[in-house]
Amino acid sequence: GYQPTDKGEVLKGRRAHFGGNLSLTYSDPVMLLRGWKHHLFDEWGRPYLDAYNNVPHVGHAHPRIQAVAADQLKRMNSNTRYLHPAQVAFAEKVLSKLPAPFEVCFFVNSGTEANELALRLARAHTGAKGMVTPDHGYHGNTTGVIDISAYKFNAKGGVGQSDWVELVEVADDYRGSFKRDDANRAQKFADLVDPAIAKLKDKGHGLAGFIAETFPSVGGQIIPPKGYLPAVYEKVRAAGGICIADEVQTGLGRLGDYYFGFEHQGALPDIVVMGKPIGNGHPLGVLVTTRAIADSFAKGPEFFSTFGGSTLSCRIGKEVLDIVDDEGLQQNAKAMGDQLMAGLRQLEAKHACVGDVRGMGLFLGLELINADGSEATGICSYVKNRMRDHRILIGSEGPKDNILKIRPPLTIDSDDVEMIVQTLDLILDEVATL
Ligand code: PMP
Repeated sequence: GYQPTDKGEVLKGRRAHFGGNLSLTYSDPVMLLRGWKHHLFDEWGRPYLDAYNNVPHVGHAHPRIQAVAADQLKRMNSNTRYLHPAQVAFAEKVLSKLPAPFEVCFFVNSGTEANELALRLARAHTGAKGMVTPDHGYHGNTTGVIDISAYKFNAKGGVGQSDWVELVEVADDYRGSFKRDDANRAQKFADLVDPAIAKLKDKGHGLAGFIAETFPSVGGQIIPPKGYLPAVYEKVRAAGGICIADEVQTGLGRLGDYYFGFEHQGALPDIVVMGKPIGNGHPLGVLVTTRAIADSFAKGPEFFSTFGGSTLSCRIGKEVLDIVDDEGLQQNAKAMGDQLMAGLRQLEAKHACVGDVRGMGLFLGLELINADGSEATGICSYVKNRMRDHRILIGSEGPKDNILKIRPPLTIDSDDVEMIVQTLDLILDEVATL
């Protein structure tokens, strides 16, 4: 067995036994062995501030999650072919966070699977296959959802675009075709859906639907202008399609002001997909939809997932949502997000390489630019790695990988927000001297 401090050995073993396209973050990778709230600890017990991971939504190693998992594993763990009160309790908790038309929950094991299922529901309900989706999106790692994930199918060595998929430009009003000084930009971005639907029809495809990360994350932490999604949804529905909101990154209170991103847009999707944070580390994906759409799907073969909706999963999922409420974590996301945003705005005013600061609650992005305004991929990588040297974990995103992504667990506190801002300030000073 490995000694806990043998980081080099672990790396060697990983190279020997894992695929080469499983990437590691940082030029000097971190090995993390323990966690608590928004902190992680390496093989030497050194602390890192986790300002990146959204899966530990209520914090790493939360005692209530430990307790509920241990309790259920002691009793039994089985599947949805048997009755258990935890299944309905979890469904009712999820539905309590959503408006009335949502009545039916499907429990699966990941965001990928939930999106895969969303495609099947859209096809079952409409009898069509065509999908429209924003460019640079990501919805998961299986064959079906890779086809609607431009971030993957258009990447080097990717499978390319399928003929039943049409892309629209991301509603990025910083770098995209319509900028923030254009009062009609939401409508103009939405209008791009018309030719996409027409193209599908030309190719002989009906419209099954539209899927988008409500706030595009891998696209670069984009907040679409208000009114974008309702305008898109109207067009999609007029063409017979259904509207899928991938809330894997944006749901469950992270945005502070909203429990789900679609609320900010004033939009009502037909399907909402949740993942990552909803199990706080336990693999769990949830799809919620209307009775009408669930009924269309129910005309087909039985739907079953061995582990999806297991007793253990249902108990953990409900516990996560209860903790968000009991600990006021949505309110904390709002307060800490506002403090972080205020600090980042000061950095934007001070440092020429910060082109844009955007986000909501604890879903934030800093777009780094070169002197000519182009995407500063190199600077972004430098800053991310230097933050790691200071033991603060953040990420990077965007088509040119020049947007710093800050997305901590919802437990983060005021001192740690201050530490992020002050450390970034120091490192951005270094950038000026590079
Ligand atoms: N949708 C979005 C928006 C995501 O960010 C991700 C994961 N990064 C997924 C779906 C897929 O989730 P998973 O990796 O849990 O299957």
